[in-house]
Amino acid sequence: MTHGNDTNGLIVEPVARLIDAFSRLPGIGPKTASRLTFFLLRSGDEQARVLAEAIIQVKEQVTLCKRCFNITTGDYCPICVSERRDRSKICVVEEPLDVLAIERTGSYRGLYHVLHGHIAPLEGVYREDLKIDELVARVKSEPVDEVILATNPNTEGEATAFLLLKDLAPLGLRITRPARGLPTGGDLEWADPDTLGSAFEGDASYRDAAYCVPSVRLRDIHFTFAVQLRTGASQ
Ligand SMILES: [Zn+2]
Repeated sequence: MTHGNDTNGLIVEPVARLIDAFSRLPGIGPKTASRLTFFLLRSGDEQARVLAEAIIQVKEQVTLCKRCFNITTGDYCPICVSERRDRSKICVVEEPLDVLAIERTGSYRGLYHVLHGHIAPLEGVYREDLKIDELVARVKSEPVDEVILATNPNTEGEATAFLLLKDLAPLGLRITRPARGLPTGGDLEWADPDTLGSAFEGDASYRDAAYCVPSVRLRDIHFTFAVQLRTGASQ
């Protein structure tokens, strides 16, 4: 239990259990967990039931898109089935929330691929834990000519982008990174829509294609990719 020993015995078990459950959620400390719990205790039965059912339904009904691994309720997500999307572009993001952030800008019309995390060996997250093989398979089988590596502009995001670069470079397509204007060290999810939108606007030459270069050893990059980087950056 994370609500402190001083309250042991004073708080009845069901209440302590809910406080504990809330406090395990990201961004919610023991104080907020207690506040939420006591709010629900005070509110009507209906409010609690709606919340409980919404949580259960999310777990029961929401699945991952079979193509891009975005969250959806069927086999494929609305973006993958839309005929208005540009199928020559795949934007690779870490989390489904990043898809929402980019969609809110209205500046990107291509498809997505959600990795579900980033490389973090210290936290036990390795290449095989992410949807990387699935991305490579898509690039090989779909009519893709550009992959945009929109992992977060922080250490883990950079490491993940580098790994993807090594996998994708031999496939001979344009690889870019929407880095322009995005704060280094930040989360895509929290970037303001105008800044994030400008990072996606225009053609590939507008995006900062050379961004990947400082964080990788050029001699490790397939020649085709190095040429495309220069093309992308100088157009
Ligand atoms: Zn999809």
